[in-house]
Amino acid sequence: MATDKPYILAGVMGWPVAHSRSPAIHNHWIRHYGLNGSYVLLPVQPERINDAVRGLRALGFAGCNITIPHKVAAMPLVDRIDPLAARIGAINTVVAEPDGTLAGYNTDAYGYIQSLLDAQPDWRADAGPVTVLGAGGAARAILVALAERGAREIRLCNRSLDKAQALASEFGAPIRAVPWEQREEALEGCALLVNTTSLGMKGQAPLDIALDRLPRHALVSDIIYVPLETPLLAAARQRGHATVNGLGMLLNQARPAFQHWFGVMPEVTAELRRLVEATL
Ligand code: NAP
Repeated sequence: MATDKPYILAGVMGWPVAHSRSPAIHNHWIRHYGLNGSYVLLPVQPERINDAVRGLRALGFAGCNITIPHKVAAMPLVDRIDPLAARIGAINTVVAEPDGTLAGYNTDAYGYIQSLLDAQPDWRADAGPVTVLGAGGAARAILVALAERGAREIRLCNRSLDKAQALASEFGAPIRAVPWEQREEALEGCALLVNTTSLGMKGQAPLDIALDRLPRHALVSDIIYVPLETPLLAAARQRGHATVNGLGMLLNQARPAFQHWFGVMPEVTAELRRLVEATL
């Protein structure tokens, strides 16, 4: 361990949090870049999030990740919210600034876009209409990310239409709510299909959607990473579509957070992918 360097402490607050892959990711980077520090699990019950976030500085933390169920509840506990996080309506990263304040960021949008670019370096959000399935917490970051990258039309399909409508009216153009029953029509002419529902996750029913109307050139992305290939991605691959699984988003969202705390923008390498895949 490099003892001449300051010891930097970071972690992830969630409840439950034992399943989190973030310690494996960040501790790999700490070792890889020869830094002095540690990234730890911080199991924090919902009623204690206030004390936990406010206690970060006293405990000497450079900051932490915030995960389910605290991503919205932690927002009023920081002194400043990055404009992108404010737009998304959730934070996943807290940074203890040198001036003694706490800043909140959301790196999920970056992580998602970067996962597409890692798979297809020439990917463009304005290549054609996008269909997003699901309007839960993860969808918020993805919708904002796609809109900010210049998507011209986003068809948002959710089982509960009211949630899709609420997001469409909150975020505005180019997002349009589409009834769940019309999810297959919504694929017509699309350049990108994204699944942000929990359907297809290990232990859940598969997503029920026929891909016949999706143009063959469309990219198909599923943010689920357990399993790495969901039934949706398997069906898309069999039709000849390029596919992107959720591991890239998970790995890439960690990069800007690590940079805030440790001062190094880390790389997602094949070695890191293998290391995290082995834990899935
Ligand atoms: P969430 O807020 O609970 O939202 C779940 C979504 O799934 C909602 O849109 C919900 O529709 C839909 N859904 C659930 N059961 C359904 C069913 N039987 N039929 C149709 N739709 C159904 O969850 P989340 O936090 O957004 O997470 C969603 C998924 O993304 C999870 O699998 C999670 O692991 C994954 N994720 C991945 C990453 C990553 O880094 N790769 C990051 C975050 C999340 P209703 O609104 O109608 O209930």
